[in-house]
Amino acid sequence: MTKCVTILGSTGSIGRQSLEVVERLGIRVAALTAGSNVELMEAQCRKYQPKLAVMASVEAAEQLQDRLDDGSIQVLSGLEGLLAAASMAEADTVITAVVGMVGLRPTLAAIEAGKRIALANKETLVCAGQLVMAAAEKYGAEIVPVDSEHSAIFQCLMGCHDRKEIRNLILTCSGGPFYGKSKEELQAVRKADALRHPNWTMGAKITIDSATLMNKGLELIEAMRLYGLPMEQVKVVIHRQSIVHSLVEFVDGAIMAQLGVPDMRIPIQLALTYPQRLENPEKPLDLLSCGALTFAAPDLEAFPCLALAMEAAKRGGTACAILNGANEAAVALYLEDRIGFYDISRMVRLALDQVEVLENPTLNDILLADQAARRVVESNWRG
Ligand code: NDP
Ligand code: MG
Repeated sequence: MTKCVTILGSTGSIGRQSLEVVERLGIRVAALTAGSNVELMEAQCRKYQPKLAVMASVEAAEQLQDRLDDGSIQVLSGLEGLLAAASMAEADTVITAVVGMVGLRPTLAAIEAGKRIALANKETLVCAGQLVMAAAEKYGAEIVPVDSEHSAIFQCLMGCHDRKEIRNLILTCSGGPFYGKSKEELQAVRKADALRHPNWTMGAKITIDSATLMNKGLELIEAMRLYGLPMEQVKVVIHRQSIVHSLVEFVDGAIMAQLGVPDMRIPIQLALTYPQRLENPEKPLDLLSCGALTFAAPDLEAFPCLALAMEAAKRGGTACAILNGANEAAVALYLEDRIGFYDISRMVRLALDQVEVLENPTLNDILLADQAARRVVESNWRG
């Protein structure tokens, strides 16, 4: 059971919900980090009294320092700050709730310091899953997934000691706000439509990824890395209700599923308390009123991002880092209303075609592949 935690990305959707859980369970806070939201970080520092607070830029860190004028909390910035937060001696668990590839190096630092990783930041596993899992093994760091699908699989696998017993992992996918729409209908969808997710309230980037189904593609790769399985053994099914969070099919034909209301505080809590389960005061799922549970195949033509992720997953090497880097850059442009919905998949396609894929990549190869993919997006989005 976690006694003291560091939260990377405490001002975000997962970060804020993590603090709610941390407060309820009486867990101490060693360090908090954020991007630019100085105001919320100040409030969190006053309430949770971490030893260290980190902002992305020097300017934001200076603003925070001015607001926290008594000097009892150390304030740092940038990657140096993230690395310091990730390896704080006081913390036994690090919740990785930053968005994007920026989480990679701090996650590795936390692993090297032997922390439990409560892993929300999926981009890290997508880009460098093999390196991350190998480092976790080497330093004896436990990785407990926070992503609801992977937490479901983690729970379904409790008691399974031999991966050969797994036939398939089955990831459920809500289908997002555009489920059932044709390619023609999707040409003109706006950012505001994409930001309206039917079942979950999340940060902007993952909400767009959920609308394109790239989120499920990233999760497919995340599941392959977490459980060391080939792509052929990870299936995706559309399940509109987001009640069954994912399933594991075993070789004898038995299928285990984990169900619950769509509330990220449940997997966050488990990642902090595992192997124990503690009380949760929220209302649980009521099977008698939740309605019918339905399952369907995803439409890979209307949602090409999922097909692209499958292609990168199959290709291996730096292909997943290229996929992710291009997607991060393209989603940022979509969020600025600079490109259309299908430009996201178009940019990712271009990056996968233009950036050379390296086998057995080092960390540096991965960082370079990510940058090269972003450059492809940067130089093509007006075209
Ligand atoms: P948010 O956008 O809500 O939060 C992101 C956090 O990262 C914020 O604290 C933000 O700071 C910080 N941040 C952003 N950019 C930087 C940067 N360059 N350097 C340092 N910190 C930065 O995202 P979510 O909470 O939705 O998602 C976080 C991660 O968890 C993602 O990888 C996502 O895929 C994953 N996840 C999220 C789920 C959800 O329900 N939200 C579910 C499953 C997984 P600031 O607020 O100051 O900008
Ligand atoms: Mg998920």
